[in-house]
Amino acid sequence: MIIASHYKSKRSIVLESYAIRAEFILNPGGKLVSLINRETNSLLYKSIQKQVFVFITGFLLAFLVSCCAFDTPRAIKLVDSGESNYSIVIPSNPNKQERRAAVLFHDYVRQVSGCNLPIVHHIEDGSSGIFIKEKGNITYDGYRIRTDKNGSIYIDGGKSKGCIYGVITILDKYVGCHLYTPDFKIIPKNKDIRLPYIELADSSVNENRMIHLATKEFSQDQDLLDWHRISVDYNFAHHTFNSFVPWENYFNEHPEYFALVNGKRIPEQLCLSNREVLRLVIKKLKEQTVANPEVVYWPVAQNDSEVYCECDDCNKIIAEEKSPSGPVIRFVNEVAKQFPDKIIPTFAYQYSQPAPAVVKPAENVQITLCSFTVNRSKPIAADTCANSSRFMKDLVDWGKISNRICVWDYTCNFSYFPAPYPNLHVLQPNIQLFAKNNVVDHYQQADIRTGNAFAELKLYLTSRLLWNPDIDVSAVMNEFLTQLEQY
Ligand SMILES: [Zn+2]
Repeated sequence: MIIASHYKSKRSIVLESYAIRAEFILNPGGKLVSLINRETNSLLYKSIQKQVFVFITGFLLAFLVSCCAFDTPRAIKLVDSGESNYSIVIPSNPNKQERRAAVLFHDYVRQVSGCNLPIVHHIEDGSSGIFIKEKGNITYDGYRIRTDKNGSIYIDGGKSKGCIYGVITILDKYVGCHLYTPDFKIIPKNKDIRLPYIELADSSVNENRMIHLATKEFSQDQDLLDWHRISVDYNFAHHTFNSFVPWENYFNEHPEYFALVNGKRIPEQLCLSNREVLRLVIKKLKEQTVANPEVVYWPVAQNDSEVYCECDDCNKIIAEEKSPSGPVIRFVNEVAKQFPDKIIPTFAYQYSQPAPAVVKPAENVQITLCSFTVNRSKPIAADTCANSSRFMKDLVDWGKISNRICVWDYTCNFSYFPAPYPNLHVLQPNIQLFAKNNVVDHYQQADIRTGNAFAELKLYLTSRLLWNPDIDVSAVMNEFLTQLEQY
């Protein structure tokens, strides 16, 4: 039976049953131009065709038949004529994410219906509640949603933002709130909010999903970021060697702390076989972690320079490991051993991109592999050019010795950002390739800002691919573009 219908605009009607939620989009003349299955965001039909009317007729008949023939469970009346019996229930000592999830639920329900759901810590037995709680047995920031026979709703979230994503799933999938860009958001107006009985769970294959947002318009729109399930605050790898052992402080007195290149010590890079360098890095990192105990990721990563130390001790390690990444990983492993409850990101970048032959990164060392040399016109796995082939080999090699890899990917035109950069077709195969090779963290340097080539679409598509690399890309792009067409 039809459990909800609402007009998102003069030209958009959503009909919802327990089996399907479909949106009919009309042109200014009132004729149907597309029909979208909102459960899967797949485009069922576009343009006016004879089959459309056959399908619509069948669709409506199916609703009527189901209404008459089956004793379907009643819809949950979350809001009825602007009033509600529900309270949002969070733990008595809620964490930051549980509290934000509750506030999001409250604020968007109020925007849609005008109804203010109270946020409380306890309700009486038998009362209707929306229970929001972080749970420990959910993968990464995934979530579970279920409703009981009394119509109470339970949103269990994994660590970090699981509760928030569970709330947003209800707001987006069932209430019709869609946030596409900073200035394109659909918040329907409806005094009645009905929910079906829900039993679903979802989580991502990726633990950290970060996309570079180049302007505050995007990066400070927290609701938009949460709708896209991406973060901007994950402390990914960046060049930190010089911050631990600044050449300005140490080079004159201790040139042996720094890289020997062509027989001469230079300040651009450290000598990683020097034990005093290791001691200095650990000492400084201890000070930093004590001052910021809540921070988990602490990069210990090479400076942005193409040279590395060629002293006898470093060269011996490079020979054993068959790669200049050998001294890097041995050094970073020693640091990581001192911080077992922290994660230490380091680079596989430029000279250190090839994996070492012997040493394996410690469990709490994150390898950040940078794809800046690969060809963007073809999927990496299908490309035979030297740079892509080399990256492919290195990715597979690192994937064999580490299950904590971050890819720093480059998905825009760095020569001229607004210029066309037709790489939308390689996003999915590349992100699927990364997932198959133990990549669980992402920094997608996409330089999202208004005016850059397809920036908003790229953000929408990339964020959904990072959550689930196997989505139907055409359906997601069609949904975005069809909605934009109505804008
Ligand atoms: Zn050295």
